[in-house]
Amino acid sequence: DLRVTQGAIRFEHLQFSYKPGQPVLHDLDLEVAPGSFVGIAGHTGSGKSTLLALLLRFYQPQQGRILVDGQALEQLPDEAFHAALGLVPQEPYLIAGTVRENIRMGRAMSDDRIEAAARDARAHDFLMALPNGYDSRLGDGGLAVSTGQKQLIALARALAGDPRILLLDEATANIDSATESQVGDALRALHGRVTVIAIAHRLSTLRDADQIVVLNHGRLAERGTHDALMRI
Ligand code: ATP
Ligand code: MG
Repeated sequence: DLRVTQGAIRFEHLQFSYKPGQPVLHDLDLEVAPGSFVGIAGHTGSGKSTLLALLLRFYQPQQGRILVDGQALEQLPDEAFHAALGLVPQEPYLIAGTVRENIRMGRAMSDDRIEAAARDARAHDFLMALPNGYDSRLGDGGLAVSTGQKQLIALARALAGDPRILLLDEATANIDSATESQVGDALRALHGRVTVIAIAHRLSTLRDADQIVVLNHGRLAERGTHDALMRI
């Protein structure tokens, strides 16, 4: 069976460059236990989003490999790969349609499932406060929502697919601290069930991470818990 059931991830000697001779990730080794929460921190351009892009198979590493549940990532069948991974992108997008349609994204799922995902994403309360709740129209011609709220909707969208692995690239735009703590609550509640790799621009988002990895110019510069790294 080639399905991803655990969500264990292993990066082995990963090396990647967009342009020959200009590596963006250097010999990166990282082990992510199933159901754990790993935070990725580091300055702009340090390679954080690139690491997620490799896990999403947008690019192939020049050296090294990524294993998911012990299987080579590139050998996972597309269906198993798509079922296993959920992504909350750095710049979340909305489609012109209702809240429900924005979470469903064309997949066959009940309204109950959509609402459960929104609750898991800590988006339910703000969605219910919109003029027409889950029937409110978003996107082109619809209600304007903040980047933070877009991330909560994108989180609900990702969780509605019941992923074993959730990747979150925190928006660089200013996110209000209430939304930030809602994302934190949502990630904490997934612990043990979903493997989470979250890129954050503030260490406070990663307070509950099992391990935080700090990238510096594509190298793994530091690794530890939030409290340990705060002491550096
Ligand atoms: P940020 O905090 O600003 O989101 P990041 O840590 O996510 O930064 P990456 O986007 O992974 O950084 O970029 C790492 C390096 O790779 C940077 O030098 C960037 O300019 C370069 N880079 C990123 N995407 C591409 C691309 N598509 N083509 C060429 N170079 C790229
Ligand atoms: Mg980035």
